[in-house]
Amino acid sequence: MLKVSGHIILSQALFGGRKMKRVKPGPGLHVIIGCVRAGKTEAIISLVRLYEIAGLDILKVKPVQDTRSGAEFWSRNGTAVEAVIVTSPDEIFKLVKKRHKIIAIDEVQFFDECLLSVVEKLILAGKYVIVAGLNLDWRGRPFSTSAGLMAMATEEIDFRQAVCMTCGSLHANRSRRTTLNKETVEVGFNYEPQCIRCFVPPLDET
Ligand SMILES: [Zn+2]
Repeated sequence: MLKVSGHIILSQALFGGRKMKRVKPGPGLHVIIGCVRAGKTEAIISLVRLYEIAGLDILKVKPVQDTRSGAEFWSRNGTAVEAVIVTSPDEIFKLVKKRHKIIAIDEVQFFDECLLSVVEKLILAGKYVIVAGLNLDWRGRPFSTSAGLMAMATEEIDFRQAVCMTCGSLHANRSRRTTLNKETVEVGFNYEPQCIRCFVPPLDET
C-alpha cells in the first residue's frame, strides 16, 4: 500500500479488471510550497495523476495571471495535466461538482486572499484541497495567500527546496529576480532559486 497525505491508496486500484476499493479522501488541505524550480507543479501533477489512477474525479484550476502556459498545470520538466483557468477564487465555486472529491489549485500566490475563505468552504463541504505555490516574492516577503494557506493546512505541508544557483547548495528557498523590474509580480521565467545565505533582499525604495 502507498500512503499519501493520510489516505490509503489501495494498490489494487492500479490494475484494471480487479475489484478495487475507492479512496475516500478528505476533507482536508494539503499544501505544496517553495521557491522557483523546486518541483511544486511537478508534485501537484504527480498527486493528481495518482488520485486519478485511483478513480477519483479531480477539479484542476489555475489563475489567469499565470500566462507561461495554457489551460494546464505545466512543470519545467515537461509534464502537464489539463486545468481550467479562472480569473478569481469565487469562480472555483461555479466549477465544483458533487463528483469532484478533490480540488487541485496551482500557482496560488497569484490569487488574492479571498482564496482562503473559498478553500475553507470547500473543506467544510467535504472536499480535499491540494494547493501549490510560491512562498516568497522576489523581495523575500511572504505571499499572503500562500502564507494563509500554509496556516490552514490540515495535512502535510510539503516544503520544497531547490538548488541554489549561486552556491549550489540544495537548500534554496528564495526566488531571486534576474531583471530590474520593481513590480511585486512579474510573470515569466526571470527568476532563479537562491539559498538564505546567498539571497540579498533588494533595497526597499518605497
Ligand atoms: Zn546559496
